[in-house]
Amino acid sequence: MTAHPIRPLAPGSTLGVLGGGQLGRMFVHAAQAMGYFTAVLDADPASPAGLVSHHHIQTGYEDPDGLAQLAALCDAVTTEFENVPAVSLAALAGQLPVAPAARAVAVAQDRAQEKAHFVRCGVPCAPYAVIETAEQRAAVPQDLLPGILKTARMGYDGKGQVRVTSAAELAAAWESVGGVPCVLEKMLPLALECSVIVARGHDGHVVNLPVQRNLHRDGILAVTEVYEENMPPELASQAVAATKSIANELQYVGVLCVEFFVLQDGSLVVNEIAPRPHNSGHHSQNACDVSQFELQVRTLAGLPLAQPRQHSPAVMLNLLGDLWFAHGDTAQTPPWAEVLALPGVHLHLYGKTLAKHGRKMGHLNITAPTAAAARATALQAAALLGIAPF
Ligand code: ATP
Ligand code: MG
Repeated sequence: MTAHPIRPLAPGSTLGVLGGGQLGRMFVHAAQAMGYFTAVLDADPASPAGLVSHHHIQTGYEDPDGLAQLAALCDAVTTEFENVPAVSLAALAGQLPVAPAARAVAVAQDRAQEKAHFVRCGVPCAPYAVIETAEQRAAVPQDLLPGILKTARMGYDGKGQVRVTSAAELAAAWESVGGVPCVLEKMLPLALECSVIVARGHDGHVVNLPVQRNLHRDGILAVTEVYEENMPPELASQAVAATKSIANELQYVGVLCVEFFVLQDGSLVVNEIAPRPHNSGHHSQNACDVSQFELQVRTLAGLPLAQPRQHSPAVMLNLLGDLWFAHGDTAQTPPWAEVLALPGVHLHLYGKTLAKHGRKMGHLNITAPTAAAARATALQAAALLGIAPF
């Protein structure tokens, strides 16, 4: 972004986003609420963000014509998807402000680079080895087992991950992912998982959302709980400080999420970063005075960042496609009316017409005056929907 003069883009300007998924859709909603025009680049004619944007360019992320159209329409461009080719971001950055920068997105795209960045920032991560060759695979230290083999690129929602307990399983697992570059991470004894979202402006000013406590099921985020007592306060402040240093060290501009593990011995370990708003930050739409998507709009438009304030304890429940199937494969509509009869329940659906097992279809934000009330209502909503208690 440094190649371009830093000046606020007034409402009425056009903000673009690479990627048309649900994160793009919620960015578009936030941008439009503030009076911006929006453009989405995504090849899918029915993409959640494309459906609600003023402009929808239906090409691939590397299509030169699509990128040229986006550059012509927009005053600044962001991304909602970390696997957008960094070269496309770099090409756009030659023509207009792009945030986050290609260099920062490239770090988040590659688990090996990401871990090297954590080491540079002095933030502990899981012991790991990079595996790019059969020799490196054979030389992996025994104490990394049992471990998780993760493809270095293109993983999400637990995809591209294989748990291994022996050298023989590691060899088979690496073969099963096609021998692509990977990292092997030691399997850690987790006590809990949490994440922190920060927004960093061009001027280096950083603000943060409160620490989010996350529950994953089958490698997919299921529940996020956000209230003061959700984790020990000294760990929460450590996580915020680590996130800010990761963002500062990258000279990051935009919204960044950092995922952490808290180990059974009480120590904090960084897992991975997402160079965009994050599923675990969705509570901010209803529980905070500024949402993660408004923060993304403000960073992209060069507007001031005020420290967000959480005004209600919150629980977020992910709504996966599984809820659209009764027993096995019989289609059903989840009981929205019953769920919405509960106090403080906010329904967000992404406009996806086809429900699939494991597909993120939407989320529920539950807000209440107290953490206990938010949890109790969330458990009632979960029971109505067939989501396991937590
Ligand atoms: P997403 O994009 O949805 O965040 P991902 O596919 O990038 O997920 P990770 O965040 O690396 O995957 O891992 C998914 C989940 O697997 C973690 O949230 C955690 O529950 C578990 N996990 C990952 N790495 C480890 C580890 N080293 N030790 C123990 N559990 C782990
Ligand atoms: Mg993750």
